[in-house]
Amino acid sequence: MVKWSRIGILTILSVWSVSALAWGKTGHRVVGYVAQQHLSEVASQRVDSILSNYALEMSGNFMDFIKADTAYRHMGSWHYVSIPDGQSYEDITPNPKGDVIWAIETLIAELKTKQFKIVPNEEFAIMVLVHLVGDIHQPLHVGLAEDRGGNSVKVEFFGEESNLHRVWDSELIDHQGLSYTEWGNHINRGVDSTQVAQWQASTVIGWAEESQSLRTACYDFGKYTNLKYRYIYRHIHTIEERLERAGVRLAGILNEIYG
Ligand SMILES: [Zn+2]
Repeated sequence: MVKWSRIGILTILSVWSVSALAWGKTGHRVVGYVAQQHLSEVASQRVDSILSNYALEMSGNFMDFIKADTAYRHMGSWHYVSIPDGQSYEDITPNPKGDVIWAIETLIAELKTKQFKIVPNEEFAIMVLVHLVGDIHQPLHVGLAEDRGGNSVKVEFFGEESNLHRVWDSELIDHQGLSYTEWGNHINRGVDSTQVAQWQASTVIGWAEESQSLRTACYDFGKYTNLKYRYIYRHIHTIEERLERAGVRLAGILNEIYG
């Protein structure tokens, strides 16, 4: 009996809520928009010719749109990776269903070889890649299994019931009241080629390690669970830089493949 209830708890812990698996719609559009600013002309034209339904900045939302389709339910674990404090990706037993690091690395490899196995085709691969390069930069997408990346941490955002994961996915972004282009222009300002080269030089595991190192600070509200301006003030710069890095690195991948 005890054994079974433990297994039940473990199963719950290893599966995050399907409803909270990504930056909100604006966040993903910002990543695609920033990437577009850093694409070479050749890469931009080639990517655009492959994306038949969406511009790059809108294509990151596709993975959220297909969540309701049972045919893509197996992609649920691709949005995140759970790594305990004090451990690295190499220390953990990988989720057999895949995680965000595995998915990004596999998609890059398939886009290079044009042999598509985990997704149906090249357009699909790019759209999923845009989404997941965004996700891996959200600190709580490299989260703790015990609170499902902050999904189980109940907080309020300006008095409205929420959870910590949702605050980071969308509420901190949406509260600014900016469109994705306004967001993108704001965070892309002053990022020079030296910075771009430095960000693009790191590995997918390195991006996850950055997120992991940032996540502890997300919990810094103590007993003040009604998150408001003070919390935004402490964290908005992190959000801005994670979205910018994600866009720059997405461009780096696409330039390498299509540039
Ligand atoms: Zn996601």
